[in-house]
Amino acid sequence: MQNLLHNLNAEQLAAVTLPAQSALILAGAGSGKTRVLTTRIAWLIQTGQVSPSGILAVTFTNKAAKEMLTRLSAMMPINTRGMWIGTFHGLCNRLLRAHHRDAALPQTFQILDSQDQLSAIKRLLKQMNVDDEKYPPRNLMYFINGAKDQGLRAKDVEAHDDYNRKFVELYDLYDQQCQREGVVDFAELLLRTYELLSRNQPLREHYQRRFRHVLVDEFQDTNDLQYKWLKLMSGQGQVDSGAVFAVGDDDQSIYAFRGANVGNMTAFEREFRVQNLIKLEQNYRSHGHILDAANILIANNSKRLGKNLRTDAGHGEQVRIFESSSDLQEAQWIIEQVKNLIAEGWSRSEIALLYRSNAQSRVLEHALFSSAIPYRVYGGQRFFERAEIKHAIAYLQLMDNLHNDSAFLRVVNFPTRGIGAKALEQLQDAARQYNCSLYAAVPYVAGKAGSSLNGFIKLIEGARFETQNLPLQEMVQVVLDASGLITHYQNEKEGADRIENLEQLVSAATLFVSEEGYGLDAPAFLGPQAQAVAGTSITTADGIEIIDADASLTTIMSPLSAFLSHASLEAGDNQAQAGQDALQLMTVHSAKGLEFDAVFITGLEEGLFPHENSAKEEGGVEEERRLMYVAITRARKRLYMSFSQTRMLHGQTRYNMRSRFFDELPDESIKWLSPKIQQQQHSWFAQPKSAWDAAPESGNNKIAQNFSRPDSGWRIGQNVAHAKFGEGVIVNIEGGGGSTRAHINFGKFGMKLLDLSVAKLEKL
Ligand code: ATP
Ligand code: MG
Repeated sequence: MQNLLHNLNAEQLAAVTLPAQSALILAGAGSGKTRVLTTRIAWLIQTGQVSPSGILAVTFTNKAAKEMLTRLSAMMPINTRGMWIGTFHGLCNRLLRAHHRDAALPQTFQILDSQDQLSAIKRLLKQMNVDDEKYPPRNLMYFINGAKDQGLRAKDVEAHDDYNRKFVELYDLYDQQCQREGVVDFAELLLRTYELLSRNQPLREHYQRRFRHVLVDEFQDTNDLQYKWLKLMSGQGQVDSGAVFAVGDDDQSIYAFRGANVGNMTAFEREFRVQNLIKLEQNYRSHGHILDAANILIANNSKRLGKNLRTDAGHGEQVRIFESSSDLQEAQWIIEQVKNLIAEGWSRSEIALLYRSNAQSRVLEHALFSSAIPYRVYGGQRFFERAEIKHAIAYLQLMDNLHNDSAFLRVVNFPTRGIGAKALEQLQDAARQYNCSLYAAVPYVAGKAGSSLNGFIKLIEGARFETQNLPLQEMVQVVLDASGLITHYQNEKEGADRIENLEQLVSAATLFVSEEGYGLDAPAFLGPQAQAVAGTSITTADGIEIIDADASLTTIMSPLSAFLSHASLEAGDNQAQAGQDALQLMTVHSAKGLEFDAVFITGLEEGLFPHENSAKEEGGVEEERRLMYVAITRARKRLYMSFSQTRMLHGQTRYNMRSRFFDELPDESIKWLSPKIQQQQHSWFAQPKSAWDAAPESGNNKIAQNFSRPDSGWRIGQNVAHAKFGEGVIVNIEGGGGSTRAHINFGKFGMKLLDLSVAKLEKL
C-alpha cells in the first residue's frame, strides 16, 4: 500500500483516498489528475473496496485507456484484461454487442466512422431525390450528430420552419436506413446504449449494482448525452448509487464545437451532491517559464472556475519564439532545431510538433521526409481511412454483415467486374420495392445485370465459406487475394504503396489477435449461440436472465466483428509506424493529456491560431485560448513557438499577422530569436482580405520591427510576370541593392526564390 501512495503529494493523497462518494477533482494541466485517477482505481482494488469488475473508468482516447491499463498492471498484480476502462464509444460498443437483441441490433452491427456516415447520408439524399445544394450532406450530418449528442431522436427535435422540418424528416429516414443496414454511427453508439438502459430496468439495475465506482478523466469535455449516460450508469439520485469520481480542468475544455458542455462541471457538483471538491495546484510537468506562460495567457479568459498552478522545478529555459518569412522557411528552421536536439541526445519520441489544423502537417512532413528524420503523424490520413484499406475492410464487413449496403456499394464493382450504374440502379429499385438490403435484392434483378451481380454474391459467399475456420489474419489474407484487390493494385502504376498498406492490414490483424487475447489463453469464440457459455449469466431478482457484457470482447464477439469495430473506433492509431523512435506530429486537439520533453507550437498566426472561425462564435476566441493553454502545457523542458508571414494553405497563399497570443505572454518568460531575414513592409495589412484580418484585437506591436523598404524598386504584393512561371505575386524581399532576392508565388508553379538582378521579371 505504502508503495502505491508514497508518490503522491498531500492533496493528491487526499483525492485518491476519498470515501466512496461522488467527488470532483478540479485542477490545471500537469497537476497529476490522470495519475490520481489511476492510483485511485488501484487503491480501491487493493484495499478490497471493490473488485476490478466493479470499476467503470472512462477516458478520452483509446490511447489513454491503454496507458491506464498499462499503468495499473505496473502498480499491482491484477489481470486488467476485460476491465471496463475505455472511451465512451468503446464501452458502449461492448454493451451493445452483449445486449444487441435488447438494443434491436444484429450482433454483427458495424460502426460507421465519419467518412462512412457522410457517404451514407449522400446516398440517402440521392435516393430521396433531395437537392444536395439546398440541403448539404455535411450540414445534415452535423444536424443529426448534434441532435444525437443531446439525446434527441428525430421525433424529439422541434422544427421551427419548413427547412428545419426537412432536416428532421431526413434525420428520421437516415436512422431507418442505418437500422435496415445494421450500422451505427459514433453518436448512435451512445444514444442507443442510453436508450437501452433507460428502457430496460433489469439491465439498468444490474449495471448500477455492478459499477460501484465510476471514474471519468477529462470531464470538462463531456457532452450532454455523456453526462446523462453517467447519471444513468451510476444510478445518480438513488439510495444506493455508485460513486462518480470526476477529474477535469475547465481551462482545457476544447470540444465545445462537438457539443461538449463545460457547464457539466457545475451541474455535476450540484446534482451529484459533491461533498469533496479537491484542487491540485502543484504542477509536476513543466518548468517555470513554460508554466508562467500558460498561466498568464489563460488569465485573459473571463469565464473560469479559478485555480492556480505552481512548480518546484525551477524556471528552466525561456520559451523560444521564431518568425519566418514563409511556411517553408518555418519548416526548415524546425528541422534545424530538431536536429540540434537529437544531436544533444533528446529522444525523437519526446519531441512533438503541434499545429492547429491537419492541413498544416504537409509542409512539415515534406521537410522531415527530405531530411530523413523518422516521424509519426497522429490523425490526418489515418491508416484505417486509406482508400485501399477501406476497400478491404468493406469486403470483410460484407462477409460479417451481408446487409451493410455501404460496404456492398463500395466494393460491388471494385475492382471492376462489369457491374455498371444501370445494374445498380435496378438493384436499388428492387431493394426499395421489397424493403430489403441490396444483397437480399439481388435475386430480384433479372438479365445480364442479375447474373453479374450474382457473380459478386458468389464471390462473397465463397470467401465466407473458405474462411469460416481460419484465424483472423489468414482470413484477411484470403480476402485480399479473393477480392482481386492485390491484383488490381499490382496493375496500377502507383499501386506498390497500396499493396504494402494492404499487407500491413494483415499485420494489424495479427497484432490485434495477440493484444486482444484471441490467442491460446483466451476462451475460444464459440459463436453467437454460445454466448451464455462465454459471457457471465446472471439472474436478477425478478427472475430475468441477463448475460453480462463481461470480460473482454473475445467472449461476446467474433474476432472479425471485434477487429472491424477496432478499425472504426481506433482509426487514429497508425499501426504501421508504431514502436519506432519517431518525432511526434499532431494537432493540438489530439495532444490533450500527453506530455513531451520538447514541444514546437507552429503556425501561430491570426486566422490560423486563433482560427478564423472562432471570430464568428461567441466565446470562440476564449476556446482558442484554452487550446493554446493545452498546447503550451504539453511541454516539460523546452518550448518553441513559431509563425510565418506567408503560408500556402488549401492552394492559396495567405499573408498573416502573428497570433495575438504572443502579446499575452509574459516578457520575462519568452525569448525572441531574431530572424535573419529582413523584416518586410507590412503595408499589405492595409488591405485586409476579410473581416477577420481587420479584427481590431490583432496586435502586432511587439517585435522590434525593422522595416526598411528595399531600394530595388520592387515591392511586396506587386504582381509580376515571368517568362516560364507566368504570373505571380511578390510575397517577400530579401537583401537589397545588387543582391536582392524575392519570394514569388507563381500559383500553380508554387513559390520561387528568384534573384532579381538575374531573373527577367515584368511588373504588372
Ligand atoms: P493534463 O491536464 O495535461 O491531463 P494531468 O493533470 O492529468 O495533466 P498527469 O498527466 O497525471 O497530469 O501528470 C503530469 C506529470 O506529472 C506526469 O508525468 C506524472 O507522472 C507526474 N506527476 C504527477 N504527480 C506527481 C507526483 N506527486 N510526483 C512526481 N510526479 C508526479
Ligand atoms: Mg490528464
